[in-house]
Amino acid sequence: MTNRRTFLQTAAGAVLASACQPTTQRDQSAQAPGQVPLIISTWNHGLAANAEAWAVLQKGGSLLDAVEAGVRISEADPKVDSVGYGGLPDRDGRVTLDACLMTGDGRCGSVAALEHILHPISVARQVMEKTPHAMLVGEGALRFALANGFAKQNLLTPEAEATWREWLKTAQYAPRPNAENHDTIGLLAVAASGQLAGACTTSGLAYKMHGRVGDSPIIGAGLYVDNEVGAATATGLGEAIIRVVGSHAVVEAMRAGHSPQAACRLVAERLLKKNPNSPNLQVGFLAVDKDGRHGAIGLQKGFTYALHTSAGNQLFDAEPLLP
Ligand code: ASP
Repeated sequence: MTNRRTFLQTAAGAVLASACQPTTQRDQSAQAPGQVPLIISTWNHGLAANAEAWAVLQKGGSLLDAVEAGVRISEADPKVDSVGYGGLPDRDGRVTLDACLMTGDGRCGSVAALEHILHPISVARQVMEKTPHAMLVGEGALRFALANGFAKQNLLTPEAEATWREWLKTAQYAPRPNAENHDTIGLLAVAASGQLAGACTTSGLAYKMHGRVGDSPIIGAGLYVDNEVGAATATGLGEAIIRVVGSHAVVEAMRAGHSPQAACRLVAERLLKKNPNSPNLQVGFLAVDKDGRHGAIGLQKGFTYALHTSAGNQLFDAEPLLP
């Protein structure tokens, strides 16, 4: 990814990391027929999130329960250094979290720059369900979380702290794409009824300025869901995604008649055109329509996604836009 984790890896670490990647298959979205129910999510860690979301649906849970439960797996996993607990901090050493969720009828909730709370996605859900607002940020979001029963805890793991301290030695902000293949988790679900929901959660770019908020908690940028059409989510350099309001743009392209794959490609091309001098830029889009057809595009090679249907839970390589 254009991120964070990046500069930290030694060559040996990179080799080890790639040796440990689950096997992926070629992207088949262009020719895949629709299947419902369906869960789709970003990156390799999407597999575990999909499995949880699927299990919730199988037990008769709601779509919202499913998407929330799915991404909570990544939030709680200290090995995922781009989401929740274990996420790499900002340049001041503070872990700040962004998350949102949305249902196909237009309900949504979001938190940004939230500190000390293990499950920002669940706070986002409570923003949606218990307040007249769509988004709470920073100190206000924390106060709301604590008032609603969430516990305050330290999210900076010793590993993440050590990595940040190493980074401080040079303090160079020079992201590389797909460095570790696990970033924001964006997860979309289509029920057998064709109803949709989605969730998106991240610790954002490592070593960002304190207070920086990316695309992930911004409805329309990191996530957009509309039962009339479909849903989309994004990962990668948030600033570039915000500039094209990426997820909303993908859904609107589907509304105009494009397939999920064509819609992802169209918006990725638009985004690329607006960033002509950024050879390392990585952004990935996932989309589903209400019939359960899906699409997936990464600007560069290396963007993977996990797809769960009744046929199983499997990892795929998204089609890269660039050679
Ligand atoms: N989109 C996220 C952000 O900009 C980061 C990522 O997906 O890697 O905060």
